Amino acid sequence: MNANTQRLSFDPEALGRKYQLERDKRVRAEGNDQYQEVSGDFAYFVEDPYIKQTLQRDAIEEEVEVVIIGGGFGGMLAAARLHDAGITDFRIIEKGGDFGGTWYWNRYPGASCDIESYVYFPLLEKTGFVPRQKYTNAPETLEYCGVIAQTYGLYERSLMQTMVSATDWDEDLGRWIVSTDRHDRLKARYVVHSNGPLNRPKLPAIKGINTFQGHTFHTSRWDYDYTGGSSDGGLNKLRDKRVAVIGTGATAVQCVPHLGAAAEHLYVFQRTPSSVDVRNNQPTDPNWIASQESGWQQERRRNFESIMTGAPVTEDLVADGWTEAFRLLFGSLRDKAPSKFRLALWALAAPFTANFYRVGLKQHLTNKAMQHMNLAKEMELADYRKMEQVRARADATVTDAQTAESLKPYYRQFCKRPCFHDEYLPTFNRPNVTLVDTDGRGVEEITATGIVFAGQAYPVDCIIFATGFEVGTDYSRRAGYQIRGVDGLSVSQKWADGLATFHGMHSRGFPNSFFFGPAQSGFTATYTYALDEQSEHLAHILQSAKARGATRIEASAAAERKWVQTIIDKARLTADFQEKCTPGYYNNEGKVNTQPQNNTYGGGPIEFFDLMAKWRAKGDLQGLELR
Ligand code: NDP
Repeated sequence: MNANTQRLSFDPEALGRKYQLERDKRVRAEGNDQYQEVSGDFAYFVEDPYIKQTLQRDAIEEEVEVVIIGGGFGGMLAAARLHDAGITDFRIIEKGGDFGGTWYWNRYPGASCDIESYVYFPLLEKTGFVPRQKYTNAPETLEYCGVIAQTYGLYERSLMQTMVSATDWDEDLGRWIVSTDRHDRLKARYVVHSNGPLNRPKLPAIKGINTFQGHTFHTSRWDYDYTGGSSDGGLNKLRDKRVAVIGTGATAVQCVPHLGAAAEHLYVFQRTPSSVDVRNNQPTDPNWIASQESGWQQERRRNFESIMTGAPVTEDLVADGWTEAFRLLFGSLRDKAPSKFRLALWALAAPFTANFYRVGLKQHLTNKAMQHMNLAKEMELADYRKMEQVRARADATVTDAQTAESLKPYYRQFCKRPCFHDEYLPTFNRPNVTLVDTDGRGVEEITATGIVFAGQAYPVDCIIFATGFEVGTDYSRRAGYQIRGVDGLSVSQKWADGLATFHGMHSRGFPNSFFFGPAQSGFTATYTYALDEQSEHLAHILQSAKARGATRIEASAAAERKWVQTIIDKARLTADFQEKCTPGYYNNEGKVNTQPQNNTYGGGPIEFFDLMAKWRAKGDLQGLELR
């Protein structure tokens, strides 16, 4: 231990070695291929358990200005912003039975959002809706999706329970032909692809996975017929059931307490523990909402994301676990730093999902100054301190010392999605709950009667997969349909060796197609914020095209090349951080930057949004070819 670290209650070098060890034992040569595609024998995992009645209708043939694929927040926001811009001839196609997207599918017990509802729920000032709590839950979010749909008259312009099967560009017609599984054929001038970045459930390719004879489902298709109860819990049909949960990510953290309260016995199979910090939910003060001035929501969500990604702010409006993590990271550094460097320290608050590591640094600090202050090292220390707090919470809450140790995450806080929950850790004090710590290896085998790990069989009646969603696999595999553009070129072909877009939204060869999502775009903790920005961007482009009498919009080859290079250059800034992280979907399962162009915009969302706002303000749609 050196002189600088003597005052610490931990040995940073030893912790650094421990982090490395924990990471190394989890990295798998197969990367994303360790997962099983949910199709063929596994297709039942994606069936819709929520539809009360299958819709009967004839196939539709129609011509429409815009087809929007996806009825989640992205699709709804696209529709809302287009509507506001006077473009009202659109159709939304949604595979589920209602609007909601992520929130339509993820109704597992305890499902809720730990991004503050006042920033997460878009269009609050327009709809006048008042979320009941600081952190909302799935039922209220779904209710709110219905409110947006009603406000904008989206139901009458939607096709529910309908899956797009292909979109094909017809150059002669200057239209996309959108086909569906109900034999619909829509001719659309424009198509918005808002199919959800975490939409396709994934299963681990565990030996014997399809031999299990008991009941099984994925958390995003919760089987309440089997478990009883609702999103609020009360899973009364599990009283005589032995249940296994595989996975301990953000989803498991929320449903495990309800399963623990209900099941005869619950086995939680863990590969990597989540970091679980204090949640501290509170009811909304209606007077506070009523007292807000016009524009408050935009200001609040910008303030929140600014803190998260390093842009300077004078006040922390949300003041919660997320922003506190950044305050802790940088508070002590701010005090140490000369005043002219203080902004730069906020700029260092950037490792969230590691995409923003060292964001803004170039703007504010010279390399020399940075070396002098050794800020990266200081940041690492602050992170160790924060994670020591999180680990101490496990010791303070969980009575069995070995279980408490197993529940401690050994990686930097933003290597994985941080969780905030007050009932997860105490669940492991229940006599009917067993944590099976696979020490980074994961479940080895599933048999007809249960799960085997380290030679021990765990017979169970039900296996619930809390194993997350595909990220980084082929675009059309995740979307569920192929997109064939000019000369029949498909997106799978075009992007086989890596993404190529302009601003994340356009891709040459796919005129009049608009891609929503974080790829090559601004990625936010408040995902609805990014979707809203994309929606405004879309509305601006379509409105401008209309004003010029243009009907064909395509990224120029040069603009696309330049944007891809920007993404690659910015991805380099984050590589160091990513490489040290335990594997997961944030760092391409540990295979960092094998395709650096597949990253999100490494400058962080606020920088990205400002760049887009500037681009729009110029008014010349530079980089787009209009005809
Ligand atoms: P994740 O991908 O985050 O987690 C999947 C879990 O499955 C991980 O714990 C993973 O372990 C584990 N796993 C995978 N394969 C195996 C295996 N072979 N054996 C044992 N365990 C295995 O999915 P989630 O559904 O939890 O979350 C997805 C995202 O959704 C979150 O990151 C977040 O963005 C969002 N979300 C947000 C919530 C919120 O607002 N609170 C709540 C829920 C979800 P390992 O870590 O080792 O890979």
